[in-house]
Amino acid sequence: MEPEQTINNISDLIKAYLSSQKQNSFLQYKDPIELQKILKLDDHNDGAGWSQIFTWIERYLMYSVKTNHNGFVNRMWVGANLPSILGEIVAAVSNTSSCTYESAPVSTLMEKYMIQQMLDLVGFKNGEGQMATGSSNANMLAMMAARNESLPTVKTKGIFGQQDLMGFVSADAHYSMEKAANIIGLGTDHLSKIPVNGQGEMDLDLLEKNLERTVGKGILPFFVAGTAGTTIRGAYDSIIGLLRLKRKFNFWLHIDGAWGGAVLVSDSLRKKYVNGIEHVDSFTWDFHKMLGTSLMCNIFMINNRPHTLGKLCSSEDESYIFHDVPDSNKNINEVNDLGAVSLQCGRRVDSLKWFLDWKYFGKKEFGRRVERSLELCRYAELIVRKSDFLELVLKRNSFNICFRFKAPENVANKLNLAIRNTLYHDGKSLVGYAYFEGKLFLRLLLAGHDLTREDIDQYFSDLIKTGKSLAETY
Ligand SMILES: *Cc1c(COP(=O)(O)O)cnc(C)c1O
Repeated sequence: MEPEQTINNISDLIKAYLSSQKQNSFLQYKDPIELQKILKLDDHNDGAGWSQIFTWIERYLMYSVKTNHNGFVNRMWVGANLPSILGEIVAAVSNTSSCTYESAPVSTLMEKYMIQQMLDLVGFKNGEGQMATGSSNANMLAMMAARNESLPTVKTKGIFGQQDLMGFVSADAHYSMEKAANIIGLGTDHLSKIPVNGQGEMDLDLLEKNLERTVGKGILPFFVAGTAGTTIRGAYDSIIGLLRLKRKFNFWLHIDGAWGGAVLVSDSLRKKYVNGIEHVDSFTWDFHKMLGTSLMCNIFMINNRPHTLGKLCSSEDESYIFHDVPDSNKNINEVNDLGAVSLQCGRRVDSLKWFLDWKYFGKKEFGRRVERSLELCRYAELIVRKSDFLELVLKRNSFNICFRFKAPENVANKLNLAIRNTLYHDGKSLVGYAYFEGKLFLRLLLAGHDLTREDIDQYFSDLIKTGKSLAETY
């Protein structure tokens, strides 16, 4: 088959997939043993022909989860925006690494352009930014930047014999914070988890007491991370309250907005949820979550310190790939070789899809989408409140709806898990779950930007039907 024919074939498959992705079930579920048999992964080890290659592609599409389907209410991302899909295709076709201007001239300029757009949007002055590989790693960069600012010799001497440090996050913060504490040599015992209040927000009185105690012991409270939209409950820690404590204790204040940072595209939601964000020290958000850019698409930003990322991430060895970064004191925005100031060497071109999405929708349309999404969450909450069969387990803070099918306490957990798993195996919907004080609840996330009230009605009606029939057996 000629290259042209293969491209025509894949284009037909993609078209058929896109036009049917909302139809029928969202998944043809097979257990791993069955799926193993269907996939025949060990066939054609001496070189597969094009027809076998296409068979695998078809099977991939057939047995994958359709994330654009209205039943996919499980995760913080859904099927990607079309401009970003085109960006992904072009990035794959033109395969390069966005580590130097030499090898990726357009991508480098697009990334720098988008970073400046985001610094302006958030309101960081004299800031820097970079596309990281996701918020987990952006959180680590933030913790590392704070560590290196507190311990000026840590880059060369390591953590040995240094001033003792303590970092603080809320008990509901993302688990990547603990990973970061491990990776940067802080140690998870040196990351204090502050309990949350009834709304799921970090209890700032407890934080203050802990900060005082830490200072009293001669330990330096170097880092506090608030969350803008916690992963389970969608709670927003009070940035204004955290800034007040920052002025008193002088720590690095990072905000993890991986999920809820998307409110920045709406002026009214920004004021309501992340007021004061322009004064924090660093911030991250994932465009691949609520805004729908294809996975992965992250930005990490630092405020008011124009020469941090270069020092932080550069190895200061410009001997083989990077020839135009004579000193790491440069602002990252002046550097053309973004790989020299990143943690990884090769860098995937994530900027093109992001740029295309941003240009196509603009802040205005993204803003409308996020506001509409919140409207739908209100609607879904109302359905739960009105239903005789459902109940909220936690108050809704923003975008996350934490509810369950009503049942006697001794069977509620088992029944709700069974409902969720049945809906999944039937290809009806996939929803995440978590626990609060021993109660299992379902976490409904409506990240799909073209969801309608009818889709939500359908979701709950399937769930209640399944719940009623399963409840008889419990
Ligand atoms: C999803 C999430 C993360 C992790 O982001 P990745 O880009 O998947 O690494 C971090 N923090 C919060 C609050 C999240 O919701």
